[in-house]
Formats: sequence, structure tokens, C-alpha cells
Amino acid sequence: MALITKAIKGTQDVLPADSHKNQFIESTVLEIASEFGFKEIRTPVFEHTELFTRSVGDTTDVVQKEMYTFDDKGGRSITLRPEGTAGAARAFLEHGLQNEPMPQKVSYLTSCYRYEKPQAGRLREFHQFGIECYGAESPAADAEVISVGNEVFGFLGIDRIRLEINSIGCPTCRKEYQTALKAYFESRKDELCPTCLERLDRNPMRILDCKSPICHEIAAGAPIILDYLCDDCREHFEEVKKYLEEMNISYEVNPHIVRGLDYYTRTVFEFVTDSLGAQAAVCAGGRYDGLIEEIGGSHVPALGFGMGIERLLLLLEAQGIELPEAKKCDIYIANIGKNASYKAAALATELRQSGMSAQFDVVGRSLKAQMKYADKINARYTTVLGDDDIASGIAKVKNMETGETTEINLEDFADSFMDLSLQSAASELQNLVSDDKSVDISKFLGGIM
Ligand code: ATP
Ligand code: MG
Repeated sequence: MALITKAIKGTQDVLPADSHKNQFIESTVLEIASEFGFKEIRTPVFEHTELFTRSVGDTTDVVQKEMYTFDDKGGRSITLRPEGTAGAARAFLEHGLQNEPMPQKVSYLTSCYRYEKPQAGRLREFHQFGIECYGAESPAADAEVISVGNEVFGFLGIDRIRLEINSIGCPTCRKEYQTALKAYFESRKDELCPTCLERLDRNPMRILDCKSPICHEIAAGAPIILDYLCDDCREHFEEVKKYLEEMNISYEVNPHIVRGLDYYTRTVFEFVTDSLGAQAAVCAGGRYDGLIEEIGGSHVPALGFGMGIERLLLLLEAQGIELPEAKKCDIYIANIGKNASYKAAALATELRQSGMSAQFDVVGRSLKAQMKYADKINARYTTVLGDDDIASGIAKVKNMETGETTEINLEDFADSFMDLSLQSAASELQNLVSDDKSVDISKFLGGIM
């Protein structure tokens, strides 16, 4: 019994009291992406396992240790997506988007699944906002993708966050680098963890990304890829930096970023924070010019990033940034008696059809209990309907903030109430503007819009 009332380890519920924060973040990021021309794509939560082993790479932590893989009843190997890039790339190919004008820009909000050790900011089911840009080789595209992430943090008022960038070259320059890397790790072979020992032959770059403390320490002294870049890759990286400077985006070059997924080439980047302990990366991505070919398409240079929604929310909290409040109930219609209850139902319907949030008693409570409830839900206005009000055709509407009451005709209740509500919102807003409380203004707008 206990099992069915407990969520699975590493998963979390978003409760009604908090969901407005997720909704605000989700609509904000999609809106910002759309300003840059990214349009939403939605792909299934599961894919053929091979898509991930091929694209993410079978020597990565994600594929080796973290995937939720199972056989379905038809005997197919299925994997719950651990990230969003592979599914989007598969859809891009399957639907022939390479025949559309380039670049193709997509955005998504997806749940992701990784069997990791759960802790704050590290879940087994988490959510990513991501964008992908297909068909652009130019460093301008790298800077543009990075600038979407930058814009999200800027818009939300997050300042203690660093952009770190690196280039991990192309298969050509990586050959020589891999040899140097292998020689270095060979010399410290006895200290590597068993997984990295296996990676030494197959993909020594993966050792740079190992989370085990000893491998991490050994990796810190390894040769760095920047010293091995071919002329084209070096030039590309210089240009990315130039564009970032033109866009007024500060960055630091961190030669140790390699990223945990195999498909990356050239530019890789992370937005990192000191506010979240070991879960420092809030947004991470890069260029993956070989991926579309790897999964069976033609050569389509591409790049993107994934941003962890839960980490973003933790970061906002850690930095004391308040999001707009949940939309309040505009009016609560308390009612006494059957007739008044019918009338309340009719008025609430009219109000909602005019775009307002209205509630009335559906429990059959005493007037006192109804008013207590109106207070709990933070209703901006209340009115009490009884037989007398219905007979006179006039209701008294009370502003719960100021205590002021206004009489409104039941005949055109929705229209008159809307006028009243807008008038008081306007004067409240004017007061805020003259006091220059910019934070309060955005909270206020969240409350009424
Ligand atoms: P980390 O190094 O923290 O394990 P990662 O390199 O595995 O991160 P990516 O695969 O680049 O992460 O995913 C992009 C973003 O998704 C991360 O920057 C992070 O914000 C978020 N993310 C990744 N794994 C998790 C997780 N298990 N729980 C919550 N968010 C996550
Ligand atoms: Mg990880």
C-alpha cells in the first residue's frame, strides 16, 4: 500500500500552489525562442533505443549508465528520451525538413529520463527547454543560439551566471588530440575508474567528462583540445567569440568543457552557476555537425542547447528572484439560498465568457464559510447574493483590498464588473508606477492578467 502513495525516487510533483511558476517559465522561454524564429516541435517520450546509442554515443555516461531502456510487448527495445536533441533530429530527418529553407529552427519543452543518483537539481525525470538550429555552419549561428540562452537568463533577472565556451574541434583535428590524450591517460592507467579504463581505447575524450573524483583530478592535467585545433576550427572559434562580443555577451573560455554527449563538434558551451552546488550547469549545448549524417541523413551542420527547468527554478529561488503571482480569482460570488445559487451560476458563466476568473460556492456552505474561502483564494472582489438582491436587481460588489463597495446592476453584471475591475487595476498600476516599484508591477500584472 505504501508504495502506491509515494512517487518514484527521483521524480517530483508540481502542486497547484506552484504550477504557475512552471507555466510562467515555460511560456517565457518559448516566447523568447519564437522571437528568434524558433518554432516548437513535439516528439514522443520514447524512441528506438538505437537512436540514442547512435547519437548520444555508446561510451557516454548517459548511454552506459543512465538510460531507461526496456522491451515493449512487441519485443522492441525502447528508451525513454534522456535528452531532446536526438528525437528532434530524427523528426527532422523523417519529415524531410532538410528540404525546407535553411536554417530550420526548432524549440521544445520535454520531460527527460536518466537513472542518476537523485539530489537537489538532479532528478530521474526532469524537464528541458531546448532549441536546435539546422543547416547553419556559420559561427554567427553559434552566437545566435547562445544568445537565446543569454536572453532567457537576462529576462528572468538572473545575474550570477557565467557563460563558459570551448571548441572541441572536428574529427580531423581530434585524431591527433585523441592520440595525445590516450598517451597521457595511459600513463595514469592504474588510477582510472573501470568505466574510464574501458573508454581509454574506444573514446579517451569521454574520460574528461567522468564524474568520479579521481578521474576528474587526472583529467585536469590532460592535454587540452584548443592546442590541437585545425585552422578551420580555430578560425570558427575565433569568429564565435567575435560575434559574442558584438552581441555584448560576456564569456570565459574553459578548455576543459567537453560535454557528456558524443555528437558535439566545434563550439560547446555551458551556462554555470555557483548557486547550485554540484549541479552547476543550468544550460548546456553546442554544435553537432555530424549528427544528422550519423543517423542516416545528409551533411547538415547543426547546433542547440538544453536548459534544465528544475535547475532554473532552483536558481531563481537561490537568487531570491520572485516570479509573477498566480492569476487571482477576479470575483467570488457568495450566495444564500437556492435561487441565489442559480443566479450565481449564471453570473459566473457570463463573467468567464467575458474573460474573467469567477467562482461561486459549489459546496453548499454557510455564508461565513463562503467568505472565509473567498479570503483563502485571495479573491480580488466578492459579492453576496440573496433573494433581496435578486428582487432589487442590484448587487453590492466589494473590493477586498480597499474594502470599498460598489453597486452593480445584475442585468449587465459582467460588463459593469469588468469596467470596475479595470478602473481599479489602472489606478493601482498608476500608484505603483509613481512609486517606481518595478518588481511589484510585474507581480501585480501576473495577478490580474
Ligand atoms: P550534469 O553534468 O549536471 O550531469 P549534463 O551534462 O548531463 O549535466 P546535459 O545532458 O547537457 O546535462 O543536459 C542539459 C541540461 O539539462 C543540464 O545543463 C541541466 O540543466 C539539465 N539536466 C541534466 N541532467 C539533469 C538531471 N538529472 N536532473 C535535472 N536536470 C538535469
Ligand atoms: Mg549528467
